[in-house]
Amino acid sequence: MTGGLTPEDIKALLAKPEKKPRGKKKGPDTSVRDIQTWLALAPQSRDMNREQPDLRCENPNCVDPRPPKISALDGSEIKHHFCVQIDNIYICRYCFLDGYLLNDPNQLSLTSDG
Ligand SMILES: [Zn+2]
Repeated sequence: MTGGLTPEDIKALLAKPEKKPRGKKKGPDTSVRDIQTWLALAPQSRDMNREQPDLRCENPNCVDPRPPKISALDGSEIKHHFCVQIDNIYICRYCFLDGYLLNDPNQLSLTSDG
């Protein structure tokens, strides 16, 4: 025997099931930030979601350039009608496409210290 592997070792190695990369989450891959993924996430509006009547983008540094609307209910500002939920946080399309909540160091480095 010259190698370190016994026939039993080789059998054990061959018997191991192949590990295929498989996402844990169901549904679309939210790390892909394009409009197809956005639509696949079925964005909800505050008007149609009674469980989330105050649905709005939860990014404190929201990048949506549109001016906020004023809620008729409580006078608060509403920036967005359509949001998707990522990691239990609702974000708007602008923040979604901008890569908010994306665990990508390249995206995180874009923030400025302004
Ligand atoms: Zn936003």
